[in-house]
Amino acid sequence: AFNNQKKTTIEGKGVLNNRISEYILTNLSQCGIKTHFVKRLNMREQLIKKAEIFPIEFIVRNIATGSLTKRLGISEGTVLERPLLEYCYKKDELNDPLISKEHIFSFGWADENEIKQIDKMTLRINDLLSGMFRGVGIKLVDFKIEYGKAWNKDTEKKEIVLADEISPDTCRLWDNITDKKLDKDRFRKDLGDLIPAYTEVAKRLGILHEQSNVSVVNVTKLSSIKRKKR
Ligand code: 5GP
Repeated sequence: AFNNQKKTTIEGKGVLNNRISEYILTNLSQCGIKTHFVKRLNMREQLIKKAEIFPIEFIVRNIATGSLTKRLGISEGTVLERPLLEYCYKKDELNDPLISKEHIFSFGWADENEIKQIDKMTLRINDLLSGMFRGVGIKLVDFKIEYGKAWNKDTEKKEIVLADEISPDTCRLWDNITDKKLDKDRFRKDLGDLIPAYTEVAKRLGILHEQSNVSVVNVTKLSSIKRKKR
């Protein structure tokens, strides 16, 4: 978190994110969104298309929280009248600073047509994800995604694809009724119970069955036992 300033290892998180991201990207792809995702290979790995990544993080906000409230003094939890699109320059050393479209064009990080296409895709993804989460009692507060250019072997051209994971690590997800945080803010803000929250998201999406909680824990234990043995 916070560009690597806060670090830890949370056993089992990758397994959950892998499944959640697979589910979301597969659903988006069925709705016509082009993505880098090919298939999940196993519990911790995915096969994806190679893409040249735009050095930009695309952030969509539906409810004000996080850096928006700090930067502009907007009250926490304010429901925005329309989704707010923000751009950040992907540069860890600079803390991924907020930039405008003019910065993107001036420095050639993407051209006007590309940004027009990406903005449209991003707002469509926001609509699809908001509906997906609303259906399982979760508010999609905000999220970050990245895009790249990947080769399409059918058209023999490069095309813009969503090239990122989408998971509770990259989205803010609040329970619809209680506003309980079911995302990475549990780690950022030391709220604890991160794995139960991510498991809750997976279960609500219908990815894990009730007893799967046990198997995630078992797999985690198993992998740490294997590591200790080595
Ligand atoms: P904020 O700007 O409020 O910190 O973050 C806005 C949204 O983008 C949140 O959902 C946050 O999780 C996501 N986000 C922003 N930057 C990053 C990043 O570098 N990595 C990840 N995983 N998510 C990010």
